[in-house]
Amino acid sequence: LSPKIMEELEKQLEKHQLENIRVIKTGCFGLCAKGPIIVVHPEKTFYTQVKPEDVGEIVEQHLLKGEVVQRLLCKDEQAEKYMIEKLDDLPFYKKQKRIVLKNCGFINPEDIDEYLAMDGYKALEKVLTSMSRQQVIEEIKESGLRGRGGGGFPTGLKWEFAAKQENDQKYIICNADEGDPGAFMDRSVLEGDPHVVLEAMAIGGYAIGANKGFIYVRAEYPIAVKRLEVAIEQAKEYGVLGDNILGTGFKFDVEIRLGAGAFVCGEETALMNSIEGKRGMPNPKPPFPAVSGLFGKPTVINNVETFANIPPIINKGASWFSSIGTEKSKGTKVFALGGKIVNTGLIEVPMGTTLREVIYEIGGGIPNGKNFKAVQTGGPSGGCITAEHLDTPIDYDTLTALGSMMGSGGMIVLDEDNCMVDVARFYLDFTKDESCGKCTPCRIGTTRLLEILEKITEGKGTLEDITKLEVLSEQIKAGSLCGLGQTAPNPVLSTLKYFKEEYIAHVVDKK
Ligand code: SF4
Repeated sequence: LSPKIMEELEKQLEKHQLENIRVIKTGCFGLCAKGPIIVVHPEKTFYTQVKPEDVGEIVEQHLLKGEVVQRLLCKDEQAEKYMIEKLDDLPFYKKQKRIVLKNCGFINPEDIDEYLAMDGYKALEKVLTSMSRQQVIEEIKESGLRGRGGGGFPTGLKWEFAAKQENDQKYIICNADEGDPGAFMDRSVLEGDPHVVLEAMAIGGYAIGANKGFIYVRAEYPIAVKRLEVAIEQAKEYGVLGDNILGTGFKFDVEIRLGAGAFVCGEETALMNSIEGKRGMPNPKPPFPAVSGLFGKPTVINNVETFANIPPIINKGASWFSSIGTEKSKGTKVFALGGKIVNTGLIEVPMGTTLREVIYEIGGGIPNGKNFKAVQTGGPSGGCITAEHLDTPIDYDTLTALGSMMGSGGMIVLDEDNCMVDVARFYLDFTKDESCGKCTPCRIGTTRLLEILEKITEGKGTLEDITKLEVLSEQIKAGSLCGLGQTAPNPVLSTLKYFKEEYIAHVVDKK
């Protein structure tokens, strides 16, 4: 619908000769449940669920007469049913802190001038003109930034390992192979603010001594790919990518590589094999990529969200960043909220925000008056968190302690109608299909695990099958080569931990 709305808007502006009003196509605003959205600046009036036939009224009533079109304002269903006029007043945005998403929904991602106007490429200029490589690494280390792709490894430390390697060639890779069901954080950043990733990759290149970068992005994200292509062209023209960046002599180029939709290619060694033109299968580690990565050269791989934090850290300083979040998890985290929740969409909150705040204050609660049952975090590698843990602050360590994980940021909310055995079966079906087949515990183990789960969901399982699920899950975790297999049983184990009675309710011999 959005292209049609845009077309209509341009037609109406021309008809009324409103030449000094610009229409800007932006990336995602985050509030997917209320799209398509038009925001009128500078007052930030927030029109939601707009249809092409509404555009004439917005132009004639708002832009010509200065009167807000009440019926198109955002209705806040949960709080007192009032109409929100300004974007900043919406409860959905109030509890958020937008660092990674700060430009998404506000700038035209296909126009480098708009990125420059938001301090774009200032961080790159700063590191190239006033910081040594080691100072950049120290700044990132002091910030406490940890990898947002799921592992949570300290980013500065990863950069330092690669920087210390003596080699004529090193690489920076951006992992944009976002494959978790229900996750769309990286996609939104690439579609809404592609330059931030390019700027961060160049900063990383300078820090570790690399002059070549690759962005490995899913082919299923055509808008993200197109916007990256446009951004790379514009960055080269502007002199922030290429042979002599900003006249400093530093050289850094970026190429895009398309992934063909294999979930396992999000694993870093599989991803590098894929870039090298080989079959996308993981390798044993060590050696780690920082020592021997792409084409055997020292390589740093970070995901999109990790990179998007780099320019703000350089611009505002490590202490600013580390003042946000919890003791061991600094900064913010972007989550894709989906499932049984009123405000499905993309949010960014400080680490340490509780699940209750995310689900009820930002997410607007559970639709149709139903009760919250659990939330699945970390996608197929994660686990579920139940109502008794709603006040848990979200950070890497607390989620792991609960048997779930931060993962890349997918959050699927489940209500009282969801069967948890079915949820586990759904995720296992996914990981079984995505297993690359290289190692036996994962290839055969996930197949057997799924067979048992199917038997149970069909009402043909026994108590012994539940025990087999537990034993086999632990064996798969312990014996698999890569993270896919090592975490594949997590949804089974966490649903067994918190909802065993639902498994027992399915089997034939309940006692
Ligand atoms: Fe492949 Fe699974 Fe083994 Fe990973 S754990 S290497 S995905 S078979």
